[in-house]
Amino acid sequence: MKNYENFYIDGQWVAPLEPGRTVDVIHSGTEEVMGRVPLGSVADVNAAVDAAKRAFETWSVTPVDVRAKYLRDIGAALAGRFTDISTTIQGEVGSPKSFAELVQAGLSLGDWETYASIIEGYDWESTMGNSLIVKEPIGVVGAITPWNYPLYLIICKVGPALAAGCTVVLKPSQVTPLNAYILAEVMDEVGLPAGVFNLVVGAGSVVGTALSQHPDVDMVSFTGSGPAGAQVAKDAADTVKRVGLELGGKSANVVLDDADPAAVAMGAVFGCFLNSGQTCSALTRVLIPASREQEFLDAIVEEASKVRLVDPDADEPDIFHSLGPLSSKSHQETVRSYIQKGIDEGAQLLVGGPEQPEEFSTGYYVKPTVFGGVTPEMTIAQEEIFGPVLSILTYTDDDDAVRIANGTIYGLAGGVQSADVERAKGIARRMRTGQVDINGANFNGQAPFGGYKQSGNTRERGVFGLEEFLETKSIQLPD
Ligand code: NAD
Repeated sequence: MKNYENFYIDGQWVAPLEPGRTVDVIHSGTEEVMGRVPLGSVADVNAAVDAAKRAFETWSVTPVDVRAKYLRDIGAALAGRFTDISTTIQGEVGSPKSFAELVQAGLSLGDWETYASIIEGYDWESTMGNSLIVKEPIGVVGAITPWNYPLYLIICKVGPALAAGCTVVLKPSQVTPLNAYILAEVMDEVGLPAGVFNLVVGAGSVVGTALSQHPDVDMVSFTGSGPAGAQVAKDAADTVKRVGLELGGKSANVVLDDADPAAVAMGAVFGCFLNSGQTCSALTRVLIPASREQEFLDAIVEEASKVRLVDPDADEPDIFHSLGPLSSKSHQETVRSYIQKGIDEGAQLLVGGPEQPEEFSTGYYVKPTVFGGVTPEMTIAQEEIFGPVLSILTYTDDDDAVRIANGTIYGLAGGVQSADVERAKGIARRMRTGQVDINGANFNGQAPFGGYKQSGNTRERGVFGLEEFLETKSIQLPD
């Protein structure tokens, strides 16, 4: 049981200014309380923003090599907490141990060195005619993050923000706040100057809103659901701050008619089910050619039938076929209701279903579920479910496939499967999404990541991620 009573503000562990409200963190597999943290108020946000504003005076002009050293120190200190991070996230999110280690903890460690190297090699100044073009940190950043990859998505903001010379007030998801406390402990351990990083936990409607509206917050960097992101943008509008939004998706995996069913099946299933489907860029719609429908359905169903539900704390090395529980009871109920909706709207249930799985009477498990016969207007083809639910649709020709792929409000990710990579690239270019993987190509943690349409308006990771936190100044020089 991890019991935290304070926030991290101005380099100190401080008690909430309006004490008495706490939230229990529930283990997704055992349903037992694994931790407790305080819930903050507007007063706590004000204190944290004041500290961040003061710290910006010096952090923004701290030499790049000094900032880079801090980043490397943070990465090294986090590496020392590797097991603590992975076991915490196994409980908070429900990610199985091997996935929590490789992805949840693993990705969270690497980016510190990446950002240190990027700022050391970055062109902070350039000339254009008689102008000196200077890149400068934007200021105080409010970072608001979700629960699905809790620490990695925090680091996608805090890493580049600190690298840029910004100071940060972090509001993590109240579903998964414990990993954020580990990060705050690390910031304290490495001696990051007071106020450069601050942590306040709380409800989105209280702490998140206060950050979005605060006149001394220069930028809000938000990852989460579309409705909450839109509210953040509205709340930020009066103070004309920069708003970076990373939102949801309903991404299509387009299987061209020359693809090999056996080669496609594993990626089709894992691309949707990874992290039990709680991945914003999950490929939740598979589009198969009507002319080869049965072949592809058979291969995908066979692959999906190999997937097993596992205890997140058990040692299950096969990350491709092991799914943990969902993050919370309410989310489990939401996902199950989507499965029922798919049945009610006439989709064909091929694998899984809405019931509690027989193997687990405890834990927020949902059966890995595959629907065939899905049509583009069905709810399960349009709305983000955020669980292990795969919708398979058919198309008639390439134009039809592109039309269906682009036929939702989202535009976060996509996949194309084909024996001909050039042909696949042509389809990828026509997809209105921020990223497309061809034939299950590897994740690139430095490539820009973000959405078109209602999936967002920003790019995170690598140098594109750094630039989100920079202002550009022109200084005109005399002859
Ligand atoms: P959520 O929108 O419920 O919450 C995200 C964060 O926003 C939390 O910290 C929450 O407390 C806060 N929040 C909620 N309402 C707010 C408000 N009015 N003002 C300010 N803050 C507010 O999302 P979630 O359920 O935690 O996460 C799942 C969602 O996140 C999914 O839609 C998923 O697709 C999306 N997501 C997107 C990406 C991406 O990079 N595009 C990555 C991961 C998750």
